[in-house]
Parts: sequence; C-alpha cells; structure tokens
Amino acid sequence: MTTKVRQWLGAAADVLLPRLCPVCGRVLGSDEPHLCRACLSAMPRTRLEQQPLNAMEQLFAGLVPIERATGYFYYEKASPYAAILHDIKYRNRPDMGQWLACHAARQIASSGFWDGVDAIVPVPLHVSKLAKRGYNQSMYLARGVSQATGVPVVEAVEAVRAHATQTHRGALDRWKNTREMYAAHSSAKQLAGRHVVVVDDVVTTGATLEACATALQDAVPGIKVSLFALAVARID
Ligand SMILES: [Zn+2]
Repeated sequence: MTTKVRQWLGAAADVLLPRLCPVCGRVLGSDEPHLCRACLSAMPRTRLEQQPLNAMEQLFAGLVPIERATGYFYYEKASPYAAILHDIKYRNRPDMGQWLACHAARQIASSGFWDGVDAIVPVPLHVSKLAKRGYNQSMYLARGVSQATGVPVVEAVEAVRAHATQTHRGALDRWKNTREMYAAHSSAKQLAGRHVVVVDDVVTTGATLEACATALQDAVPGIKVSLFALAVARID
C-alpha cells in the first residue's frame, strides 16, 4: 500500500470512527497519533532526571543500590492523565504506551539518563496474567524506549509467581512478598558488569521495581541498575 493510500484510509477511518484524546476527549487530528498536542505539551512532567538525588531515587535509597531513577509524568488518581495509564494497561492500548515511552525517552535524553546504558529490561508479567490481558504493557514501554535510544530490550527478569500471598501482614512482609514474585531469567547472565534500565508503567510504593532490581543484583555479578517509569505518584 502506498503512503498516500494509507494516509487516505487513515483519514477516512478518522471520519467514520473518530479517535479521541484519552485525556481531554477531543477528537484527534490525523497528525495526532494518540494524545492531542495540547495535552501532550501540558503533561505534568516530573523532570526528576534533572535533579540530583531526586525523590524517586530517595524512595529506593537504603532498599536497593541503584544508579539513577526517573518517572516521566506525575500520576494522580483524580487527574485526567491517569486515563493514559488505564488505557495502556487495561483497555488494549499498549501501542499508545510504546509511542509515549518513545516520546518520553527522547525528551529526557539530554539529561544523560540513557548514557552508558546497555539494556532495557521490562518488568515482567506472570504467564497467567499475560494470558488474560494478552500483552505486557511494560514490554511495549521498553520497546518505545529502545526505539528512541537504540538500546536493546532484554527480558532479564521473569515473574515466577502471579500474586503475592495474602497471608503476610505489615509493610515489611508485603515488600518481602513482592520480592518472591520475581527472579532473574537465565538470559540475565549476559548482563554481568553491564548497566540496565528496568522499565515499568507507574511507580507508587516502588515495591515492584525494587523487587526486580534485587532479583537482578542477586543473580548477576556487577550489574548496575537504573529505573524508568512512565509515571510516578507524587512522593513527598
Ligand atoms: Zn487532549
């Protein structure tokens, strides 16, 4: 199919079935692939990557040694931007996640966040959840980052249990419990002495990323780990 025909079909589809901006609900133009231009530019950016020892890095300090960490925009439950995360995870829109992660990775590149990084590692999804949802949103985010940076995706962590058991009580037990859900994959061995960035959709408590970073560091000698999330809850 020629580009012209594809563009025409795309425009025709937009007329028949208008695509909407998930944030403001406005009809998207043919040059607005997933979000409208206004919502994209008004996104509540954290710019954490520009701050030394930022709030996200402090969240992990003392739990697991990491090189650096950032999240692209602030997640707040009541914010219209939360719809993006919901669509990516539950409403079959991982393509939007890939596109936004690619955009985000390009936006933060000038901070040096991706300098010296050897692999992009998605937070895994357990096979039972994968079967139910049909895709792992973090895999799409990792692909978007890879597209922007040229750094390969390596599925170095696997989800060995679907759920944390509910018998544990208290914050410390919950953290330990999340740790038991993840393990380094055999492919992680190639990452000895390398620097990887683990990618997730949203950071709230940090337990998932902490568990993945710990799994890698327990199994892979000399590995250096950084963390990237598309969104991060406000950490005060
Ligand atoms: Zn919009």
